[in-house]
Amino acid sequence: MPGRIDSVATRTKEPLTAKQVQEALDLVSVDESNPVATTRWWQRARALVSNWLGVVGVLGFFSAAWLYYDRRDHALYEAERRRITFHCIRCDHLYTARAGAAVAACPRCDHENTRLKF
Ligand SMILES: [Zn+2]
Repeated sequence: MPGRIDSVATRTKEPLTAKQVQEALDLVSVDESNPVATTRWWQRARALVSNWLGVVGVLGFFSAAWLYYDRRDHALYEAERRRITFHCIRCDHLYTARAGAAVAACPRCDHENTRLKF
């Protein structure tokens, strides 16, 4: 009887433990190692892509800002450079005004003068 019980116990114990071990291994392999590995891989890829996207986004933002300000400064410089020379017929003062202005008041005597034509 004790030997039987022992054998039954060992028989029942052995497959149970084997099953338990298999289940545990399966659970471990399915629930932990594989998905964790995939999520780790995905997380790594995602982090890499997001990091590069961030870098690309920052670089794009700064290059766009640089282009915008460069063009704006260039336009301002051009507008400043393309000034029209005016000559006051009243006080003989030479002054400039922005391009596009056909008539500009003299800063010295406030007389409205037409632009000089060369
Ligand atoms: Zn004047």
